[in-house]
Amino acid sequence: MRHAAGLWWKFDRYELKDGYIVPGKGARLTRYNPWANYWNARDARTRDQQQPAYASLLQLLSQVKTLPLLGTDRLEPDDDSRRAILKWCGEYGLLGLLHHVTQAVYLPGRLVKAPWAAGPVYAEYSRTPTSWRSRFHTGNRPLDAAIGWEAAWAAFSRGTAVDGDEGTVIATTTFGGGDVAPSTIAEPPWAVFFPSLPKDQRRNLAYPPPYDSAFWKLYGEPLGLFLSVAGLLREALEAFLQPKPISVLGIDVVPPLETTPHPPKDKHSDAAISRLHLLTAPVRMTLGSHKQHGLQIVWAAGSLLSAFGAMLCEDLADRRHQRCDECRRVFISNQPNVRFCSKKCLNTATKRTYRHRKQARARKKQR
Ligand SMILES: [Zn+2]
Repeated sequence: MRHAAGLWWKFDRYELKDGYIVPGKGARLTRYNPWANYWNARDARTRDQQQPAYASLLQLLSQVKTLPLLGTDRLEPDDDSRRAILKWCGEYGLLGLLHHVTQAVYLPGRLVKAPWAAGPVYAEYSRTPTSWRSRFHTGNRPLDAAIGWEAAWAAFSRGTAVDGDEGTVIATTTFGGGDVAPSTIAEPPWAVFFPSLPKDQRRNLAYPPPYDSAFWKLYGEPLGLFLSVAGLLREALEAFLQPKPISVLGIDVVPPLETTPHPPKDKHSDAAISRLHLLTAPVRMTLGSHKQHGLQIVWAAGSLLSAFGAMLCEDLADRRHQRCDECRRVFISNQPNVRFCSKKCLNTATKRTYRHRKQARARKKQR
């Protein structure tokens, strides 16, 4: 699938504020292509360059040391770990956890002073394979086409929220494994990601569209959730690296005739599959055009997390993951049957083998 696409957003600096990872003051927002980094890693010659961004997230996770937070039962990363997390985010951005779980949001209607607005104006944002579709309307009359998107947004954002309208958020999945039900804008999942907003403003704010730069300035991710979702990625990887292969469909991709279509799955593979599906949920198929090859099928990821999920699938399918014989860490290699993750581990193992041989020879001599 050399046809994966999707740009992602990142600020050049992040900071930790009240348990949230948020853009640093005056930080610059840019867009980049996480897949360029991934394909570069696939083509790289040296081991270090072959580690894609998701592998560096897993490595970051293994380095994070937590300390109990005084007066609470919470654990907080120590100073070095915090610095490492913020540095990682400055390189790749946040995971896009809200974008990952949300399918659509209907903002509370707003009363607008304009000749074309007799009643409240509504804004809807819904996810498409590659972006977010935004729509403004007054009940049943669409506004964008009539007065233009910019004018509709300007009027909407200046209006005041209608009393009693709490908005609706449609989520397609949850990280906690709980039920998915429509929620209001002041509830999780939506309300979790805007740490700078006072509670009374959560409902009343005219939220910009989810990929808008104004949106990213408001958006932050709880550190605890960021780390536990990275943990899900690690668990999915570990589960799929078990010796027994896991088939997500429960059947062969090309099933031979006259076989049972659904062999019983064990608990372990059920858990692995549900984690993988959670990670890849927003990945969707569409068409894109290529300079040389014309129209192509493109898999587009709606969040950085789902891009990581897709990359993980790519690497699992191509059997690029290896486990280091020395430190047991999982690493990625373009060559099969590589035994060590680094020169350091190779050296440690070589030295130990040498030492054991020397001791064995010494014992032989004594006899
Ligand atoms: Zn190693």
